[in-house]
This record gives sequence, C-alpha cells and structure tokens, in this order.
Amino acid sequence: MPHDDIEILEERRNQVFRKGEGTAEIACGKRSAAGSVSQRACVFCGSRVVLYPIADALHVVHGPIGCAAYTWDIRGAHSSGPQLHRNSFSTDLQEKDVIFGGEKKLAAALRELIAACSPKAAFVYSTCITGLIGDDVDAVCKTISKETGIPVIPVESPGFSGTKKDGYRAACEAIYKLIGTGDISGISPHSINLLGEFNIAGETWIMKDYFRRIGIQVVSCISGDGRVDEIRRCHGAKLNLVQCSGSMTHLAKRLNDEYGIPFQRISFFGIEDTAAAIYGAAGVFGDPEIESRARDLVKQELLKIQPELRRYRKILKGKKAAIYVGGAFKAFSLVRALRTLGMRTVLVGSQTGNPQDYEQLKELCDPGTVIVDDSNPLELAKFCLEKDVDLFIGGVKERPIAYKLGIGFCDHNHERKEALAGFEGMLNFAKEVHASVMSPVWNYVPRRANRKQERMAA
Ligand code: SF4
Repeated sequence: MPHDDIEILEERRNQVFRKGEGTAEIACGKRSAAGSVSQRACVFCGSRVVLYPIADALHVVHGPIGCAAYTWDIRGAHSSGPQLHRNSFSTDLQEKDVIFGGEKKLAAALRELIAACSPKAAFVYSTCITGLIGDDVDAVCKTISKETGIPVIPVESPGFSGTKKDGYRAACEAIYKLIGTGDISGISPHSINLLGEFNIAGETWIMKDYFRRIGIQVVSCISGDGRVDEIRRCHGAKLNLVQCSGSMTHLAKRLNDEYGIPFQRISFFGIEDTAAAIYGAAGVFGDPEIESRARDLVKQELLKIQPELRRYRKILKGKKAAIYVGGAFKAFSLVRALRTLGMRTVLVGSQTGNPQDYEQLKELCDPGTVIVDDSNPLELAKFCLEKDVDLFIGGVKERPIAYKLGIGFCDHNHERKEALAGFEGMLNFAKEVHASVMSPVWNYVPRRANRKQERMAA
C-alpha cells in the first residue's frame, strides 16, 4: 500500500509532529485513542517489566492465566544468582472465582509458593479481572505477610486502569515499601543506586564494572539483577542514577523528597551519553581521584573501540533510521548513537514521553524528522515508507512491521540478547546495525527491487 493511502486518525493528529513545520506542542501522556491499536502494553505489564528482574522475590499474578503467560520471562534480564523471577506464577482465576471472589485462592497460592520457594519477598500483581471483581488484595497480602514473616507487597496494576506509565508508578510504589527497612551501615560515602536499569543481556554488570574501576560503590540496582536486601538498604546511597526515566523518575523523586538523595537522568547507550553518565556521577563527589579515574576509563575504552567504529561509519554513512521505543530518554541516546555511525534519524517516537522529552527531541533532530507519541503500526509503516528508511530500531512489536516492509531491524528492547550499553555495547550496536542494514536480502524486497529495475530501464 502506498504511504499516501494510510490515514492518521483524526484524534491522533496532534500526537504527530514534523520538525520545521508548525510550532504547536506535541500532545502526549494521553490514554491511547480507541481503535488505534497502540504499541503500548497495559498497566499490569508496565509494573511487571519493572519488577520482574528482582530475582529473589516471588512474583504472583492474581488473574487469569493469559496475563501471566503474556508477561512470562518478559525481559532478557539476567541474574547472577537466584532464578525465581523467571517463573510466571498465577492464581489462574476461573469463572467460579469471578463470581465468588479469588481471595481464598490467592492466599492458598501464596502460602504454598512461599513454603516451596523461600523467597525474600513476594509481589502480588492485580490484573483487569482482580480490579473488576474487587478482591481485597491488600488484606490478603497483609495476612500472609504476618503469617510468613516476609514482605508480601500488592502491586496496584489492573490492566485497564490507565497507561503503561501508571504500571511503572505502581511498581515504584511497591518497591518503595521495601526501601528504608534495611541496615545502611558500611555504605561508602561514594555510593550510588542505579534506577531503571534492567540487566538486559548483562548490561548492569558492564555499568557496575565501570563504577568499581573509578571507586564508586553501587549499593543497589533497581531492578536489574535485583535483590530484596539491597533494595531495603538503598536509601543509604548518596546519589541515584536513573537510566530508564519513564519507569523510575517517580521513585527517584520520592527518594529525593524523603531521604534527600539527589538524582541524575543518565543513559549508557552511545559513547557520548556513556561518557557523560560516568563524568556526571564522578563529578558529584568532589573527589579529584575519582574524576581522574573516570577520565582514564573513558579514554581507555574509547581507544579500544574507535578503529572498528570508524570502519562501520564509512559503510553506514547517509543511511536513514526510524526509532520507536518505550521511553523518550533512550530515543535521545539512539539519535546520537546513530549519528556516531554517520546515520540520520528520520522518524522517532516513544510510548511514554512527556512534553519536556518531546521538546528535547525536537531540538536534537534534523529538519523534516517525524516525531510521534504513542504511535500504532499503520502510522509507523506510513512514515517508514514515506522516509524510505534503511533501519528500524524498536522492540518485539515493531519487528514484524519492519520485516513486512522489507527494512533492516535492530531490537533495542527487553527481549534482546545482545548487550548494547556502555562502550562495548556501542560496538555491539554498530555490528548489529551494520549486519542488518547491509544484508543483501533487502535488495530482493519488491519495493526496492522494482525501483532498481525502473532505474535500469530509465
Ligand atoms: S491485565 Fe488486563 S489488559 Fe493486561 S494482560 Fe491481563 S487482561 Fe490483558
């Protein structure tokens, strides 16, 4: 279908912006328009993706089995120890439970699972059905917590009750219940928490290694390779670094308000942003030793990857990319990382950006770039065709859009198996982009093959 034939829904027109055309603010933070088949997930899914990597906790989905299956092993989040998080426990609510209530079933499931798995804490997720039938999940959690002696924490996440962002907030509120309950003795004055970092393909370990090398202690990572005891004492850290701003800014603000811990929004994607994150954190402590070690680290790491990056840049120069990701802060990093590779971003969007994020995106992007909020498959296809992109960067739901259009794809979401953070992550990213964009298979896509034939005929 030609891109001109694809219409944008009337109620979504103010969520699409072209840089250089008009000055109106892009509308965002709204509920998805009915019928637009948003790329967003539900509230429950939002909370689940944030809490999932806490590896020594029990995660129990109180709802029909489909909710648990949908989010089973949802992130490629690695654990260096327990693997309890990788199970998808569910109360499997049936018609009878919908009529008579599911509280007894939930209490029985929690008793059985806590006895069998000995978790450090349990998270109990509400789903659409729980919200509809009105089970008192809080009361069940309190009873079981008293009985078992571990924190049993309700996660207020009925799927229909808002957007994915509300799920992030529910997860932050659940985590907050653990914070402040652990011993903070022995924490270094040069210490941080990593928030909104999920250890996809082991990325947390790359970051922790950088901070170890410059002399900064990482007290907890929430939630990558997460441990309940570390979260309980994370209020003893001196600084919070927020990698996924969409999911964890709420928690960072609460820790700032109630424990006086300042926070910085950072990104470990791309060489510029990785270096800025390391320098930014090192600068907070006012210790020249740490700052000097930070400079040495960045220099050493850059020297290792620059020659190969230059080689990829020569090949990829001038290619065009589309980006559609969850949080807008990651989109900024990707625009810059693509520039490092000589590529141009012509379409960029996010599921959960706020007005400031979109203002920043407008400044960062080239004239003509299409910026979209809470987009849908048809719109994304329209703009990919119009801009004739060579690469689509997104997640599992964007992959089929790209492949159906005959466009190279790079997975930058929870499901990927390749670490893309830090300096070594930038090199992995360059390799993946190169392999995808330059694959000869795209020459056989009808759209491109026809164009080649037309050129030859002319
Ligand atoms: S919580 Fe609701 S919207 Fe989310 S997966 Fe379950 S049924 Fe679907």
